[in-house]
Amino acid sequence: MIPLDPGARRAILEACDSLREESLDWLFRLVRCPSTLGNEAPALNEMERLYRRLGLSPLRIPTDPGALAAHPGFSPPLMPYEGRDNVAAVHRPRAAHGRSLALQGHVDVVPEGDAAMWTTPPYQPAIREGRVFGRGAGDMKAGLVSAAMAFAALREAGLQPAAELQFQAVIEEECTGNGALAALLALPRTEAAIIPEPGPGMEALYTAEVGVVWAWVTVSGRPAHVRDMQAGVNAIEAASAIAAAFKAYEAEMNRAERIHPAFHGVNHPVNVNLGTIEGGEWNSSVATRCRIGLRVGVMMGRTAAETKRDIERLVAEAAADPRLRGARVRLEFKGFMADPCLFPKEQEISRLAARCFAEATGGRLRDYPATGLTDGRHFVLYRNTPCAVFGPDAQDIHGIDESVGVESMHGITRSLALAIAEWCGVEKT
Ligand SMILES: [Zn+2]
Repeated sequence: MIPLDPGARRAILEACDSLREESLDWLFRLVRCPSTLGNEAPALNEMERLYRRLGLSPLRIPTDPGALAAHPGFSPPLMPYEGRDNVAAVHRPRAAHGRSLALQGHVDVVPEGDAAMWTTPPYQPAIREGRVFGRGAGDMKAGLVSAAMAFAALREAGLQPAAELQFQAVIEEECTGNGALAALLALPRTEAAIIPEPGPGMEALYTAEVGVVWAWVTVSGRPAHVRDMQAGVNAIEAASAIAAAFKAYEAEMNRAERIHPAFHGVNHPVNVNLGTIEGGEWNSSVATRCRIGLRVGVMMGRTAAETKRDIERLVAEAAADPRLRGARVRLEFKGFMADPCLFPKEQEISRLAARCFAEATGGRLRDYPATGLTDGRHFVLYRNTPCAVFGPDAQDIHGIDESVGVESMHGITRSLALAIAEWCGVEKT
């Protein structure tokens, strides 16, 4: 291991700067892959290419629901896992003197919504006013590229980590977290992890995140012709009534005394979202079937399992309403069954992240208690691995015209390069 003197730090940062164009090129390639649920393969293949470019030998890690089902971090899957194995790559030093580290990120993106609302098409990356626009540009393809380019920069500076460094590019961060769980369990435990997830309009260091439970309610009504509506139960109206029952629950969960100190100052941290609805057969028929998909937030201090029981109770109560008499209501849990998690900013890997960001950019990472979640919980809750989640300034993630700041992304690359070098130590290549 050699000392990380000011000369070495300067060389690393200069190497990062020399990789700026290549970084954007990789980001563009990744954004061109519409890696929504079930369609992650091309993006995973790009990640394999990127890890090869680093001189590493990528490996594929399948997500095997049978093997994971008993794990407390497992979420019920939405679809089979064939053909979209996670990608990992491991750097091993000549002599392991430093501390091992995992750099993790997800390749999956959420659907683009109404593509016609985008200024430029969601999977055709475009640069405007210093930002890269495209679905997944911020969440979190920029972070995946920054992590890889940070390693490339060390190499370019004639250095490499003096400890094991793992790259993990995973699927299903946006719906189950099972890809992360599979990758994590398939590789040796590391002494810390970094996930370069973006911040909302700012470079942010996650300090906590809520949990999330996904629930699906299917209502089968009693069919009738509309001229005899009173004889039937409209499944769409019944499902709407059930969804409405969650509004009072949401308000209750956001009462001040229920909010964990980690989320103080956050406006409305526990959110219930009616995300999908499908149903009905014909405009002049009383709808016989309707299915709604709900996303229910879990405040720190409560568990996904408790929230699941809340949902069961709420749906049972709503279904008992006399207006729903004759309707059949089925509740399923598929997708997130995720507990909340803290990322203490006093832990060493987080302090290191903040310090390296300040050195690399002259700026300051802002504390971010997140009302959504990341894959970070798996490292913290199930592997006892301290995890720093921080990344570039992204706007409109999950929305229309998602973007990431170009300078911000480069700043994160520089920060990651320094953080890797400090945490792992360096040796000459
Ligand atoms: Zn993300």
